[in-house]
Amino acid sequence: MFRITEELRERVRERASGRCECSGPNCRHHRTDARCKNGLRSDDWKVYWHSEKAGEEPSNLEAWCLTCFENNFEVPTHRVTLLRPELADLTALEEADPRRAVTLRSVLRDAGSSLATERGGHVVPGLRDELLIEFEQPEEALAAARELEGRFHEHASKLRLPTVPLSCGIHTGSVRKSRTGDVYGDALSIASMVETLAQAGQIVISDPVAGELGTQVTLEGLGPLPSSEPADDDEPLGCWVVTG
Ligand SMILES: [Zn+2]
Ligand SMILES: [Zn+2]
Repeated sequence: MFRITEELRERVRERASGRCECSGPNCRHHRTDARCKNGLRSDDWKVYWHSEKAGEEPSNLEAWCLTCFENNFEVPTHRVTLLRPELADLTALEEADPRRAVTLRSVLRDAGSSLATERGGHVVPGLRDELLIEFEQPEEALAAARELEGRFHEHASKLRLPTVPLSCGIHTGSVRKSRTGDVYGDALSIASMVETLAQAGQIVISDPVAGELGTQVTLEGLGPLPSSEPADDDEPLGCWVVTG
């Protein structure tokens, strides 16, 4: 998933000619098929994307006025822990054997879904490419991450597929949920960035997860997330490898 940088945000605003791009008849703000008439001034707008369209394509982003944004997301914020598992060294695997990468990722998705169901989590809907599993508690996400690699290998061996190790990222943060169940928020892309720090077989967690897990885990510091998006408080997000 791409990151919403300040530059990208500004580009979206310019492309929208400074007008809100919400045109949904479901929007309580205008309720018609017409486009919202609000302008986008300074900070009173948000970059929005439909999660079914989420991908590497910035043109899928829309600029929405805050009124439309708030009207389309009924649950203001919801604190969740996101587990982001991926095949280790995915880029190398995709270059060497793209078909195997696609097959193994779909096996990982199946293994992740079944594990999520057993452990009270669920796969974040609408993300075609990335597997993200949402849990209420960090403990649940960590337990799932610890079990996932074994489960993935089981699924792969049933299909007689030579397997690869996984890397996992876990992040706790706030998301918004639309009325249709779409999940929106920086926490999703942060979880993905945390995963990129994990080497084969590793589970990497962010500061908020480490804070909540406390002494339940042994950690090794990785330092802050590189080029992490300026958060509200501008604090760089520290990351940790789970070593025990
Ligand atoms: Zn609007
Ligand atoms: Zn609207």
